[in-house]
Amino acid sequence: MSYYNIQNIPLTDLAKQFGTPLYVYDADKIIEKIAILRDSFKNVNLKIKYACKANTNLSILKLMRKHGVEIDVVSPEELRLAMMAGYEGSQITFTPSGVSFDEIELAAELGTRINLDNLDVLEKFGKQYGNTKGALIRLKPHVFGGGNEKIMTAHPESKFGISIHQKDEILEIVNKYDMKIIGLHQHTGSDVKNADAFTQAATAILDIASNFKDLEIIDLGGGFKVPYKEGDSVTDMAEVGEVLSNAFLEFCKNYGRELQLWFEPGKFLVSEAGTFLATANVVKTDPIKTFVGINSGLNHLGRPMMYGAYHDIFNASNQDTSEQQEYRVVGYICETDTFSWTPEGKQGERLMNKVSAGDIIAIKNAGAYCFSMASQYNSRLLPAEVLVIDGEAKLIRKRDTFDDIVRNLVSVDI
Ligand SMILES: *Cc1c(COP(=O)(O)O)cnc(C)c1O
Repeated sequence: MSYYNIQNIPLTDLAKQFGTPLYVYDADKIIEKIAILRDSFKNVNLKIKYACKANTNLSILKLMRKHGVEIDVVSPEELRLAMMAGYEGSQITFTPSGVSFDEIELAAELGTRINLDNLDVLEKFGKQYGNTKGALIRLKPHVFGGGNEKIMTAHPESKFGISIHQKDEILEIVNKYDMKIIGLHQHTGSDVKNADAFTQAATAILDIASNFKDLEIIDLGGGFKVPYKEGDSVTDMAEVGEVLSNAFLEFCKNYGRELQLWFEPGKFLVSEAGTFLATANVVKTDPIKTFVGINSGLNHLGRPMMYGAYHDIFNASNQDTSEQQEYRVVGYICETDTFSWTPEGKQGERLMNKVSAGDIIAIKNAGAYCFSMASQYNSRLLPAEVLVIDGEAKLIRKRDTFDDIVRNLVSVDI
C-alpha cells in the first residue's frame, strides 16, 4: 500500500537502511505539486518562487531549480544556500522582516530582487540606489487569512509589510528618490484555505498598483493550505487560479503591460512530500492512557507543540488493522512533548495498528517547517534526511554526531 512506501520502497526499509529518527522526502510528490500550481495559473505569466525556509536542504533546492522553480529567501544564509544550489542572483527574491540595512545591501550587491518591508528601509534604499536598482515593496493589505494567529501575516496588527493605508508616505519616498519599484508583494499567511482571503489581498494590492509606473511583477506570496488528513479542506487551486488570474489579467490590460505573477509557496510544494520516521522506544500503558514514546521529540518536529498542528501518525511496521488502539504519541524531551494533537488543536490520541516497542512510527506532512525548525534542544542530535528520487533513496544530510553539538563551544578554565 502506498501509505507504507515511498516510490515502492517500504518505509521500514528506509528506517533500517538509514536509521531513525529520519526525514524522508518523495521527489515525485514535489514535482506533482509544482505541476498542479503551474496548471492552476496556466493563463498568466507565472513564476514560482519556492519559499525555502520550509525546507532548505540543498538537494531540495536543486530539485526545485531543475524543475524551473525559482526561490524566495529570508536570510543571508538562505541566500548563500540558494547560490550553492546554482541559482543566480536575479532568480532569488530576498523577503526579510525587519533586518539591518547591511543585509539588504548584501542582497542588492548580489543582484537579488528585494522586498522592502518598512518605510525606513524604503527610504534608505532610495537614498542609496535611486533608480539604479529596482526593488519590490511588501505591502500589508489588512486581510485576515491563515491557519492560526502565529501564521497570519497580513492582518492589521501584523508586523509584516507596509500598510496599504500608508500609500501616500510610500509614494512620497519613491518620488523623492526617483525609485524604480518593479513589483508589489504581499503574503497573507500560512494554511490559507479560503479563496476569498487571496482575492481580497490581491484586490488590495492591484488597487494600489496603478500608482507605480515601473511595475514588472505582482507577487502574491504563499500560504496555500495542504491536506493534513483524509477529507481535509484545502485551498481549491483551480478556483484560486481562475479568480486570481482573471483579476490579474484585467489589471494588466488596464495597466497597459503584461506583468509577471509570482507566488512563493513553501508548504504547498514540500509538506506532503515528507515523512518523518522514528522508533517506538516504549509502549506505556497506564490506567488512563497508553503512551507510545518515540526516539524523537519537539526538537526534531516542532509543529505540534508550537502550533497545535495536526499530523497523521501511523505504525509503519504493522499493517494488520485487527488490533487497533488509541495511543498518545509522545517524544523524549523533558517537558510535555506530544505529537498526537487533535484537529481542534488539543493534545490527544491516535487510533493506530497495535504498536510494539521497536516498531517504526511514521509522521506525515513532514516536508515543510519540520527539519528546518529542528534544534539540538536537550543536546540531541539532528536527524538524517533522505530524498527518494527516480526510485532510489539518497542520503541528503548526514545524521549529527556529538561533534556537531560541541563544535562551537569554547572551554575556558573556570
Ligand atoms: C513563509 C513565507 C512564505 C511561504 O508560506 P507557506 O505557508 O509555506 O506557503 C511565502 N512568502 C513569505 C514572505 C514567507 O515568509
